[in-house]
Amino acid sequence: MTLKGKVALVTGSTSGIGTAIASALAAQGADIALNGFGDAAAIEAMRAGIEARHGVRAAYCAADMSRPAEIDAMVARAIEALGRVDILVNNAGIQHVSPVDNFPSDKWEMVIAVNLSACFYATRAVLPGMRARDWGRIVNIASVHGLVASVDKSAYVAAKHGLVGLTKTVALETARTGITCNAVCPGWVLTPLVEKQIAARAERDGVARDEAQVRLLSEKMPSADPVAPEALGALVAYLCSPAADQVRGTAIPVDGGWTAQ
Ligand code: NAD
Repeated sequence: MTLKGKVALVTGSTSGIGTAIASALAAQGADIALNGFGDAAAIEAMRAGIEARHGVRAAYCAADMSRPAEIDAMVARAIEALGRVDILVNNAGIQHVSPVDNFPSDKWEMVIAVNLSACFYATRAVLPGMRARDWGRIVNIASVHGLVASVDKSAYVAAKHGLVGLTKTVALETARTGITCNAVCPGWVLTPLVEKQIAARAERDGVARDEAQVRLLSEKMPSADPVAPEALGALVAYLCSPAADQVRGTAIPVDGGWTAQ
């Protein structure tokens, strides 16, 4: 229970990787501020479930992460409900797949807003409290696409490369403090974000979902084996632990060998 007494705000934690990260931090004793879209009853069940399973406090802090004013309000609400924000996990993210030639402007703006600008606004909002306590953890869930590119993902690749850059800058600006900032760069993880791409591949190739998954994953990921969300939760818990006090400004691939090629 290395995080007892700490408060963690995990954006986009109503689904996929964010849910696993919130659980992993709660398992270490952190109080949890949830954020993300979804059915109100399902979110309340998730919030109550975290409290019941882990004996921590949990609050839901609504915000559309594409809207800066709502991000500031989300951080204020987390502080009001749980007293502080010691750990910020910038995880909310979206994807849109299209060649640059006809990439819709509104999709470009939205992918950059949620996957990159939101991380800046949330970081700026939590830093004063972290500096006052001289302790903090900022973990940015980037992607292998923060390190290398793929076709048809211009906005996502630009946002995630930008997020890796933001991570390094924040790490340098906080280097003499107890605050660290790092990025995690997963390969394929089977979440709703990826299921859409598997479905598109199944339709394109005229094959069943499972065959489409094998084809999609083996194209880029040597292991052809998806990353478990729980493995990412465990890595974030490590980055929040005292063992990671001097892990600063890194971008850690968890990618089945994708970026080793
Ligand atoms: P997901 O679709 O399962 O979950 C995304 C979460 O973000 C949801 O809780 C959703 O409600 C929230 N969200 C989306 N737009 C939002 C907005 N405007 N405001 C507030 N919340 C919003 O996706 P996931 O696969 O769990 O992705 C989580 C993160 O991991 C993303 O940043 C994604 O880019 C990154 N990632 C995913 C993979 C993968 O293979 N799934 C790989 C690398 C990186």
